Amino acid sequence: MPRLRFRTCLLTAVVWASFHPALPAQIDPTTRELSRDIFKQLIEINTTNSVGSTTVAAEAMAQRLREAGFPSSDVVVLGPNARKGNLVARLHGTGAHQPILLIGHLDVVEARRSDWTTDPFQFVEEDGYFYGRGTQDMKSDDAIWVTEFIRLKREQFKPDRDLILALTADEEGGTSNGVDWLLKNHRDLIDAEFVLNSDSGGVETENGKAVIVSMDASEKLYADFQLTVTNPGGHSSLPVPDNAIYHLADALGRLEHYQFPVELNDVTRTYFERMASLETGQKAADLRVILSSPPDPAAAERLSLDPLYNAELRTTCVATRLEAGHANNALPQSAHANVNCRILPGHTREEVRQTLVRILADPQVTVGYDDHGRVIDTAPNAVALPAVKLRPDVMQTLEKVAGEMWPGTPVVPTMSTGASDGVYTNAAGMPTFGISGIAIDVNDVRAHGRDERVRVESFFQGVDFYDRYLKALTSGH
Ligand SMILES: [Zn+2]
Repeated sequence: MPRLRFRTCLLTAVVWASFHPALPAQIDPTTRELSRDIFKQLIEINTTNSVGSTTVAAEAMAQRLREAGFPSSDVVVLGPNARKGNLVARLHGTGAHQPILLIGHLDVVEARRSDWTTDPFQFVEEDGYFYGRGTQDMKSDDAIWVTEFIRLKREQFKPDRDLILALTADEEGGTSNGVDWLLKNHRDLIDAEFVLNSDSGGVETENGKAVIVSMDASEKLYADFQLTVTNPGGHSSLPVPDNAIYHLADALGRLEHYQFPVELNDVTRTYFERMASLETGQKAADLRVILSSPPDPAAAERLSLDPLYNAELRTTCVATRLEAGHANNALPQSAHANVNCRILPGHTREEVRQTLVRILADPQVTVGYDDHGRVIDTAPNAVALPAVKLRPDVMQTLEKVAGEMWPGTPVVPTMSTGASDGVYTNAAGMPTFGISGIAIDVNDVRAHGRDERVRVESFFQGVDFYDRYLKALTSGH
């Protein structure tokens, strides 16, 4: 999953006067060199689905951990086949609390040498940036965690609970998702009270200035629906009113004008509250009254004009593809549209399918559920997971560390409109929080793209961040 860093572009009207520059990373030279070495090693091991191997990367990290003093019994590489290995490592704590699981994916999206300025599988440092496939998504964060485990071991730091690290396969694609596989086959190895996932969240900067520190604490549910109209067709010189394209177009017109109801949860309430303090004028006022119960309809309408606020307020469904007819001189025998929905926590895909049937209001338009290309009559009844409850320890520690490193920058919990491996851990009853200390500029999002890169200083700040964060979180409350 790419890191969707787009929130700040909607905040350009905000006054930045109160923001301070970030502290330079405070890490010793040994840790600095170690983290860079690990990062380089990971970038240069190809972990794409087509020709790569996460096993090679997992084994390389396992070897580093064993060399740092982790017993072999606490460092294992396992998976469903030779190419899709996952690393699980455990740092023992005092056992005062249940463990924390840290998850990160080792696989990367495909990258072609011909598309890139440099070789995507060579680690290149240039002009203050590290280049290579996975520098943003997410070998930088994987390197940070392995570095941190080695550092905690070296310092003989004893957390108040076990820390479990799982670096896994097939988040980006493929059929062997490592988190899913571990939960199904080795739950005991990764069972935890809650989960930190550094694939989402992070520091969002605009022209180098920290704007927000975001933490993903909830996810919408993805669904595709296929709308179909069939018709006997005929010669186009003899049109009849009953036309497949018109049926579909009229139905899509009704979809265009429909809005799902506004619904807030623990995460989006806090999100709107924090955004209210960042925005000014009418927007700030609207963000405040949207929190009242029931939400003010006029404020909801104005906020809904903003695509991101709209997506955080409600389930959305939008037409994304259209296909109809077979010849210029024939009446269409069929018309199809794909409607993509992002469903709020607490609802099911079937519930949304039935809403579509109702608002499209035409028995000739059938609404099927697109299950990975196979269209079926009804959609799954699994409920989108309820929003994660914000844990005070996770939140307050993040606010404290962010306050030290990016003074004056608000911490904003967000509901992701996409999905990450947190979908599996949340479903398994382990609340999952997307937290990363890497800053990426809103104008420099290159995850999945060409010439992917991360600022050198931003990477080292990420190293510094997780050291402070994990130590503060597990030092006994
Ligand atoms: Zn990712």
